[in-house]
Amino acid sequence: MKRTHYTSELEGQEGKSVTIAGWADQLRILGKIAFIIVRDRYGTVQVTIPRSKLAELYGEAKSLTKESVISVKGTLKANKEAPRGIEVIPEHIEVLSRAAAPLPMDISGKITSELETRLDSRFMDLRQPTVAAVFRVRDSLLAGIRSYLEGEGFIEVHTPKLVKAGAEGGATLFKVDYFGKKAYLSQSPQLFKQVLMSTGLDRVYEIAPAFRAEPSATTRHLSEFISLDFEMAFIDSQEEVMQLVENMVVSAMTHVKGECKDELKLLGRELDVPKAPFRRVPFAEAKELLAAEGKKIENDLDSEAEKALGSIIGDDYYFITGFPNAEKPFYIMEDGDSSCSFDLECKGQELASGGQREHRYDALIARMRRLGLDPKSFEFYTNAFKYGMPPHGGVGLGIDRFAQKLLGLKNIREAVLFPRDKIRMMP
Ligand code: ATP
Ligand code: MG
Repeated sequence: MKRTHYTSELEGQEGKSVTIAGWADQLRILGKIAFIIVRDRYGTVQVTIPRSKLAELYGEAKSLTKESVISVKGTLKANKEAPRGIEVIPEHIEVLSRAAAPLPMDISGKITSELETRLDSRFMDLRQPTVAAVFRVRDSLLAGIRSYLEGEGFIEVHTPKLVKAGAEGGATLFKVDYFGKKAYLSQSPQLFKQVLMSTGLDRVYEIAPAFRAEPSATTRHLSEFISLDFEMAFIDSQEEVMQLVENMVVSAMTHVKGECKDELKLLGRELDVPKAPFRRVPFAEAKELLAAEGKKIENDLDSEAEKALGSIIGDDYYFITGFPNAEKPFYIMEDGDSSCSFDLECKGQELASGGQREHRYDALIARMRRLGLDPKSFEFYTNAFKYGMPPHGGVGLGIDRFAQKLLGLKNIREAVLFPRDKIRMMP
């Protein structure tokens, strides 16, 4: 057996024979004794090779390089001098994979590498406990979201990512050659999740990639991101969607706080779980608040205005509601000049967009025409509204951005294993 115990399972096992496996985090070979710090998924432990064993094992220990993968069978011994008060006295060391030297980047914590260098050697970067912790927190966040939504009667669905029509405007569509025909990578499951509302599967969610040809390099945009979308039918208004969103955020963050104590500690992060209900800031009020600070906006908030509003509001999480129709896509329901829409904001940055959808066939077709769209090219979508479509609404929330915000990471790329942007396609 290559491993009987993780390093996290060694406490109280003194005297026992164990086999641990992992990477040679540190190697110190002194005259009479050698130390190997072995690192696995959960932590590290010291392997001490005493003098009496040197002849048998020293050769292998000497030829060992940092970050080689080894399996160590030995006896666990209490030792006050050792980092965790325990050490493994080996009987056998098997080198499973010898690491080449020098390493592509330093992961000892002595040199901090630029994000680009880290991303170039992401496999190595991820061996750092603080980097791995980000992805454990992200996993927990997703588990918290799924558990909340399942508890509210949502079912998880998957919609196609190769599509014939975009949902969010042509500017950010990636074109694909689809057997000689033109197709696109899906920007959002919007149209499909709405179609599902006509089927009786009246609460659905999807956690899947969305693709946007975002030409500008920002710290919160990628060309491939993970979108959490949900859609629910038989609503009175977008208020019901907002309540689900805020409760989901609170519930998922509470889950992370409970499950990821070690990771949060490692990352030096206190999670301030917000309280629901979050403040609702009508767009008109946002406009006034900004005007009072000398910032004039029209129908939308640019990122600067968004940030300024964030400092005026002061809350970590809040909604901006009722954006002007003019700025909203065709599927959103109108309410006079404004729309039944909302954005969830986190400290002055958008985390999610949602609202009530236009479910009335005639009104939908009319709005599409007003916006210069040809309803014919959306028949797969509009047909679902013709034969019985309940009122419905939903939201799209960026998971990568949520993880970024939660952990206070400067760049969204830190929250993504292998980020994709205009420049980076590899690894
Ligand atoms: P933004 O104004 O920040 O570019 P958006 O309004 O274009 O976002 P939506 O279409 O509303 O984005 O998408 C819903 C959510 O998906 C956003 O609130 C955001 O969290 C996330 N998202 C959108 N585009 C990206 C992207 N390029 N990279 C990462 N996350 C994104
Ligand atoms: Mg948006």
